[in-house]
Amino acid sequence: RVKERGRAGFRFYQPQMNVDLLSRMKLDHAMRQGLPRGDFSLHYQPQVDLRTGAVVGAEALLRWRDEELGQVPPGRFIPVAEESGFIVTLGDWVLTQAVGQAARWHRAGRRWVVSINVSALQFQQPDFLERVASALAVSGLPADLLELELTESILVHDVDETLARLKALAKLGVRMAIDDFGTGYSSLGYLKRFPIRKLKIDRSFVNGLPSDESDVGIVRAIVHLARALGLKVIAEGVETQAQRQFLLEAGVDEFQGFLYSPAVPAEAFEASQTPTAEREVSR
Ligand code: C2E
Ligand code: MG
Ligand code: MG
Ligand code: MG
Repeated sequence: RVKERGRAGFRFYQPQMNVDLLSRMKLDHAMRQGLPRGDFSLHYQPQVDLRTGAVVGAEALLRWRDEELGQVPPGRFIPVAEESGFIVTLGDWVLTQAVGQAARWHRAGRRWVVSINVSALQFQQPDFLERVASALAVSGLPADLLELELTESILVHDVDETLARLKALAKLGVRMAIDDFGTGYSSLGYLKRFPIRKLKIDRSFVNGLPSDESDVGIVRAIVHLARALGLKVIAEGVETQAQRQFLLEAGVDEFQGFLYSPAVPAEAFEASQTPTAEREVSR
């Protein structure tokens, strides 16, 4: 009887599971068709020095517009691509595109560090290092203008292998940042051992600033930790002046958020950074 009930219970949930599986398979299929068709693009969100107000870099963020589905947010398609393995192809495309864009900006005299998000499966590919090295070589981008955003989940996977990989990337001259810092459940020990340059304070801790006492405490603790380890700190998801002001006073180095700008196409990014006089002349 118990068994029967168990089966009945399973059957009860099954239709929903199938719908979800089906829609994930459809998304995956649409992505695989959409990439060669040019349905994906990268937008760039400015990273701003809190003290000087200068734009020092840009985070490349994937955008996907499908003919039938319309605009699909990364929060929807990235997990599907990670599950199916398509993220390896997609991530490689992002790497090539972002490095190419960074190299064009570099040739135009800009010193913007371009950050890309790297998924665990992509990072674990045996040829990941070669892919990064080759993207740099082909584009001519100085390695220190490329930053890889890694999540804590990557770092806890296989510590020895990860450490070797990070060291090889660091030797290339590429920079590494930990994305969504504080949301993972890894030990802090890796911060000491791994060649990481920057911590990105997750948006969820910026949200409640400056009034939420827990967020205030967490952000201060991250800044102290970063100082002790010689790491830079950037805050993401900054939407208000009060948040920006708090972060500046707390000793955070950079910020990123709608307060300054959302992610925009490369041309719009450049245009917003062109001094008015220069823009006048070129018009
Ligand atoms: P993330 O790397 O933590 O990127 C930051 C997200 O916060 C972006 O969402 C950005 O648009 C959003 N954001 C920035 N400023 C603000 C703000 O002031 N307020 C609010 N509410 N949101 C803000 P997006 O573009 O939807 O990307 C979501 C996530 O998808 C990213 O989180 C990243 O984990 C993933 N993702 C995006 N592009 C890529 C990619 O090329 N490769 C991989 N592997 N993952 C990507
Ligand atoms: Mg990121
Ligand atoms: Mg993030
Ligand atoms: Mg985040």
